[in-house]
Amino acid sequence: MEIIYNYTLSELEELLVEFGFKKFNARQVFEWIYKKEVTDFEKMSNLSKKLRIFLNENFKFSALLVAENQLSFDGTQKFLFELEDHNFIETVLMRHEYGNSVCVTTQLGCNIGCSFCASGLQKKQRDLTAYEIVQQVLKVSEITKERVSHVVVMGIGEPFDNYDETMKFIDIINSPYGLEIGARHITVSTSGIVPKIKMFSNEPKQVNLAISLHAPNNEIRTRLMKINKVYPIETVIEAAKEYVAKTNRRITFEYILLEHINDELKHANELSDLLRGINCYVNLIRYNTVAEFNLKGSSEERANAFYLKLKSRGINTTLRREKGGDIDAACGQLRSKKI
Ligand code: SF4
Repeated sequence: MEIIYNYTLSELEELLVEFGFKKFNARQVFEWIYKKEVTDFEKMSNLSKKLRIFLNENFKFSALLVAENQLSFDGTQKFLFELEDHNFIETVLMRHEYGNSVCVTTQLGCNIGCSFCASGLQKKQRDLTAYEIVQQVLKVSEITKERVSHVVVMGIGEPFDNYDETMKFIDIINSPYGLEIGARHITVSTSGIVPKIKMFSNEPKQVNLAISLHAPNNEIRTRLMKINKVYPIETVIEAAKEYVAKTNRRITFEYILLEHINDELKHANELSDLLRGINCYVNLIRYNTVAEFNLKGSSEERANAFYLKLKSRGINTTLRREKGGDIDAACGQLRSKKI
């Protein structure tokens, strides 16, 4: 039995046509599943009996179980989901003025092992399937009864280390017959896997790309992100430039501010030199404490000074107000286990 949520619309169309059904039947099934959230083929009243029997014999519905659900004082909500193999993952809902954004997890653990990130404390056990990623969005909307308008692929794991399932997930949530989340409302974040950034530049969908840079040079970046030994900063910047040139889209660089490590004004100068001429946007994030690491986020004063320096040097920058820090739901704080 296949899980129905693992199918993109075109995969389902192809399969149904192969078995003698019509292409539009796949759209009908998608609408029942994603627009009406029906989880019983028998209730799909506009489908023929023959098709309902076929679906029942070949497909099943499967859902993540909610193990915990925590609400932050700022409205951010963190969900601990139990997978079918009894492992756990975390998903975060952020409520913004412009809509609700869900941060999804793509792997069970993470092998990138950034030195500031709780998610990387647990080695990758496996990739999540498209269905397990889709379900995170569906479950959040089902529990809260609120529409999810934006998705950020920034939870546990490196999405480009699970490239195919991540792309499949995007296809499913973006479908006009599915959740209809606009490509421009979806952002994928990578630690800087250069060959996959190049691959992503060739994807037809206008999905946003964010790169976790976190440093203005190789020395600091290697200290924070060992992936920099494999893909040094200049290769990441080169790939970012190619992405912008190919897609004509603005790219985002994420930069976690760590006191006295990467937040000096000379670092802001170095960073602005590195990014000069790229159509980009720098997202500064004050680091959230993780008990296991001896790292401190920049003070408000230092973060502001860094922000103003970048602005004065012509770099588009925001100093993000971090959400969900009190429930360990902020960047770098997610875990794939029950604590
Ligand atoms: S920051 Fe992202 S890539 Fe780095 S360890 Fe954490 S989850 Fe993995």
